[in-house]
Amino acid sequence: MKIKHRYLMLIGGLAILAGCQNNKSVPAEKAITAAEIKKYISALANDSMMGRKPFTAGEDKAIKYISEQFKLAGLEPGNNGSYFQDVPMVQITSTPSPAMEITGGKTPLSLHATTDFVTFSRREVDSVALKNSPLIFAGYGVVAPEYHWNDYAGLDVKGKTVVVLVNDPGFKNGDPTFFKGDTMTYYGRWTYKYEEAARQGAAGVLIIHQKEPASYGWEVVSNSNTGAKLYLQQKDKHMNRCKVEGWITEDMGKKLLAEVGITGDFRALARKKDFKAIPLKQSVTLTINNQLKYSTSHNVIGTLKGSSQPGEYVLYTAHWDHLGVGKPNAKGDSIYNGAVDNADGVAAIISVAKAFNMAKEKPKRSIVFLAVTAEEQGLLGSEYYATHPIYPVNKTVADLNMDALGDYGETKDIAVTGKGQNDLEDYVDEIVKAQGLSTVGDRHPGSGSYYRSDHFNFAKVGVPALDINNGSISAVHEGSYGEAKQKDYGDNRYHQQADNYTDTMDATGMAQIANILYEVGTKLGNETIFPGWKNGSEFKAIREKSMK
Ligand SMILES: [Zn+2]
Repeated sequence: MKIKHRYLMLIGGLAILAGCQNNKSVPAEKAITAAEIKKYISALANDSMMGRKPFTAGEDKAIKYISEQFKLAGLEPGNNGSYFQDVPMVQITSTPSPAMEITGGKTPLSLHATTDFVTFSRREVDSVALKNSPLIFAGYGVVAPEYHWNDYAGLDVKGKTVVVLVNDPGFKNGDPTFFKGDTMTYYGRWTYKYEEAARQGAAGVLIIHQKEPASYGWEVVSNSNTGAKLYLQQKDKHMNRCKVEGWITEDMGKKLLAEVGITGDFRALARKKDFKAIPLKQSVTLTINNQLKYSTSHNVIGTLKGSSQPGEYVLYTAHWDHLGVGKPNAKGDSIYNGAVDNADGVAAIISVAKAFNMAKEKPKRSIVFLAVTAEEQGLLGSEYYATHPIYPVNKTVADLNMDALGDYGETKDIAVTGKGQNDLEDYVDEIVKAQGLSTVGDRHPGSGSYYRSDHFNFAKVGVPALDINNGSISAVHEGSYGEAKQKDYGDNRYHQQADNYTDTMDATGMAQIANILYEVGTKLGNETIFPGWKNGSEFKAIREKSMK
């Protein structure tokens, strides 16, 4: 799991644990049991896997194990006779000049690296430079035809550097129908800002950080953007990207905009219907030196061939990678075993594969199981598959993703990431309602959690994608047990050495999610229709175009 979105949202304060009961029984009719999920987790989160970091011996062991389990579950190799898909990556360590010089205004500004700005370049070259690149304030930096919005209308940004705001114009606008109100659309994500600026041909793109619309502080921006970053190798060596991508602090953004007389609420200004980009008086000068290192990691893929529509595919995904080995913690544990994140998701897809294999009737459509690499480094394995698909994207019915399933037992509520996006949630709704359960959406929709795990890369190419997890209302424990357990995970284990497997781990919630997604996949696997995106989804047009 990339960012602890599900845990950011927990309300503080102590939870009262009342009336805890132990109820470990699993309904007999369910295809997937907690016990088998635990068996796979215990292997994947074992110290011998060394935290499953890409390019290490831990990768070799993990992908070997997963491919063997796929084979035992009756899956055929998914990639022309192989269980593996090569994922060629490049590691880029960008070091910017210590200062970013902004000149041309009343007062020249000299921004300090890390404290005032972070920048990097994905271009696979030794160095890039902006020399007096004119700055333009392009509002939110959004081109969204479905909302009749174009911050780049009539603008020529070639050779220039655009300065843009984080999140989208709908955030805190007060109108839930303008974009998606406080629910972040993809146009609000920083990844989108960089992609759009590159499509427009800008030389550089700088996002003004603001804590509330970003949903995280400057430390997160500076910590996650300094040091080595992994990218997929591209034929064009990322020369289609802006030379410089980066962030500046809100203080520095204010100083820039003040030079052209923008001093008030610039977010409100930029969300006005008649907003037009504003050329700033200043220009920017900066050099970035890049260190490059090339390596190949692997996705693992297995297929169950459909009985009558084998050329249509239902895809299950879960990332196998985690953070490897680091410094020892207070208990002397240096291995990031990632039992919850995401050994449990991989365990679940292996179990689902086995359930399909054991079922009396095989599904009509082919079912594909894909364990992807380098999610923790920026959803790279899924991006590679989605952009280099083994099975055609427009024949792929759905992606069903599992990432960091809850280890606190079955819940009465099932959390649908990005609720409202596509028809797949209706499949979940029907299944859980029949069990007397309900679905819930993101508790903090403004944080854009739909764009933060592997399913998102399938959405980006138009494939309806679903990510579900346990909610917070425990099915067996009273009070705020579920919330307390989520908070405990977020505070004490998420992305820490302590995310370990134990024999007492409660995997009934994981089995619950796996069983629901098994049912969803069974239904999809026997239909002839292709579920779609709901009106207002930013992925609807992409799918419709690819299906033509
Ligand atoms: Zn993670």
